[in-house]
Amino acid sequence: MITVQNIRKSFNKTTVLHGVNLNIKKGNIVVILGPSGSGKTTFLRCLNALELPEQGSIDFDSENPLHIDFEKKLSNKDILTLRRKCGMVFQQYHLFPHKTIIENIMEGPIFVQNRNIDIVRLEALSLLKKIGLEDKATLYPYQLSGGQQQRVGIARALAIKPELMLFDEPTSALDPELVQDVLNTMKILANEGQTMVIVTHEIQFALDVADLVVVMDKGEIVEQGTPQNIFINPQHERTRSFLTRLK
Ligand code: ATP
Repeated sequence: MITVQNIRKSFNKTTVLHGVNLNIKKGNIVVILGPSGSGKTTFLRCLNALELPEQGSIDFDSENPLHIDFEKKLSNKDILTLRRKCGMVFQQYHLFPHKTIIENIMEGPIFVQNRNIDIVRLEALSLLKKIGLEDKATLYPYQLSGGQQQRVGIARALAIKPELMLFDEPTSALDPELVQDVLNTMKILANEGQTMVIVTHEIQFALDVADLVVVMDKGEIVEQGTPQNIFINPQHERTRSFLTRLK
């Protein structure tokens, strides 16, 4: 279980997260929905300390437990440990343009984790196979489609073997015909039991894959539940109004 408690974050005296709590069970897929500006991205970025909240905590109750209290000044070691537990996939793929696909995937394990290069190469090849791009290992990012680049982005995040994968609107920069390939790759991970928190507007994906759907509005969670509860029988007026606007 990953327990996120009371995350509060402000930018220039404007509070954009008002004490957000979330329990993420091992192997669960949590999908976060909500209107633009509701704080979804900021919340996700707080989970791996890309943004530092003023308040709140994260607890990983796993083999290597970790307690992060954002009210205390975090050491670089705390931040690094947290980031090694969280792989992140961004809207833009952020691949290194001058490195080949396999070098992009090997970057984290070699330079951040100091792992053995031969083992890391074998693992990277196996990740490329998983995302269906084993024939692209020696190409450069510009030689791949957006959807393929995003799948490499996913493989790169997986390469550090994170306990938690964070996805920030991973398909929203893609042409519509490329979206499904990326969602299919995410479904493979879901079936393998990878714990994931995903900010997305892909409702059908949420219906198919999510264990928990979380609706955010104005910096707080207004409702959470199974996809059936949220999409078919939403309890909160703000959820209903958000879902109506999506139709
Ligand atoms: P979208 O669906 O449009 O991506 P979101 O729900 O992910 O929106 P956030 O991007 O988290 O929302 O933004 C929440 C609020 O925080 C917005 O009002 C935004 O303008 C503000 N915000 C986000 N990042 C910063 C920043 N670095 N500096 C100042 N304000 C910020």
